[in-house]
Amino acid sequence: MGKKEKIEEIILKISDEIIKNEEYLTDLDRKIGDGDHGVNMARGFAEIKNQVELLKDLSLSDLFKKMGMILLTKVGGASGAIYGTAFMSAGTNLMSKEDITDKTIVDILKSMIDGIQKRGKAIKGEKTMLDTIIPVYDYLLENIDKESREKLKENIVDVARKSMESTKDILATKGRASYLGERSMGHLDPGAVSSYLMIKVFCENL
Ligand code: ADP
Ligand code: MG
Repeated sequence: MGKKEKIEEIILKISDEIIKNEEYLTDLDRKIGDGDHGVNMARGFAEIKNQVELLKDLSLSDLFKKMGMILLTKVGGASGAIYGTAFMSAGTNLMSKEDITDKTIVDILKSMIDGIQKRGKAIKGEKTMLDTIIPVYDYLLENIDKESREKLKENIVDVARKSMESTKDILATKGRASYLGERSMGHLDPGAVSSYLMIKVFCENL
């Protein structure tokens, strides 16, 4: 399988995973938000699917930038702005890089986190998607040279799942869920779950 076909396959699989979980993500957002996260994300990834033929022929940098633009314009809500910025920030970081190496993936994740934090001003522990993404980055940075690729991928999914699950016990201090104060406790963060789904499918198909 060529590189372009692989990229297309991963984009389609991630999109389908998000679309498949539309109801679930929306239900989660109903508990601590306004009940639109799944609808928002499914709308964005349906458009990414529509444009996959075009996307797969772009340079890696333009691919991320274009996905970011689509998410920014189609998803809406806080997560649209934040995921959009994350992908565009990765795209900027990838300028002049063509091959995804293990090291590039660490860089991509770092630039996504930087983009998210620039936009949303959250840190780890505030019950957002960063509570999934930052532990994955920390794990990867620490273990990239120590573990085999297979083990890395397996462990990343594990770290992402546990981190996502840990948002149940976090008090929300950013985003819409923060309006609930104590009542945000005991619920998963929808964005932490959508990030987990993307990371999981990415690792399973790389
Ligand atoms: P909205 O809150 O505008 O309805 P969504 O429901 O689509 O947008 O997305 C909510 C998700 O966005 C949250 O579950 C959380 O993970 C993420 N989020 C909200 N605010 C921030 C922030 N400041 N930084 C990072 N992520 C955030
Ligand atoms: Mg919402």
